[in-house]
Amino acid sequence: MRSGACIAGLLAVFLALGATSSILEMTPPIRGLALANLRDMFAEVHNGHPHEAIDIMEPRGTPVRAVVSGTIRKLFLSKPGGNTIYQFDEMGVYCYYYAHLNGYAEGLREGMRVESGDVIGFVGSTGNADPGAPHLHFAIFELGAEKQWWKGKAVDPYPGLVDAVKRTQ
Ligand SMILES: [Zn+2]
Repeated sequence: MRSGACIAGLLAVFLALGATSSILEMTPPIRGLALANLRDMFAEVHNGHPHEAIDIMEPRGTPVRAVVSGTIRKLFLSKPGGNTIYQFDEMGVYCYYYAHLNGYAEGLREGMRVESGDVIGFVGSTGNADPGAPHLHFAIFELGAEKQWWKGKAVDPYPGLVDAVKRTQ
């Protein structure tokens, strides 16, 4: 009985860790990304709104890669974000958001499974980005119980991206 409870407790801890760890397993969204390319701008105000994301400046057309394995939940054209991708992680705990894309990878569609490192789109300046400064706008949202792709609590992606880059070095 006691050891049973103990195993159940360990299992609960394991599941809790598993459910919150996709950020810790991220790979960089851009190949060859360096720490110098990252600046924590989560708390900055852009266009009158909290930015709650990271901008990574890259030449137009640079491949953008899935940072974790999971599912392409939504491909959405928005006025501010331009061509965007909402990707859920395996557990549906976090949503990874990629915006201002020049376009999507060929064959990318909603509901599709992708592996960490797969090319899903290309850097651009669609939406409200400066056409002279193409970049990847990257954000992470913690999904609510209803798992709605448009609704979540923003999480600062900076620490996780720094760790992801360090793991490649
Ligand atoms: Zn941005």
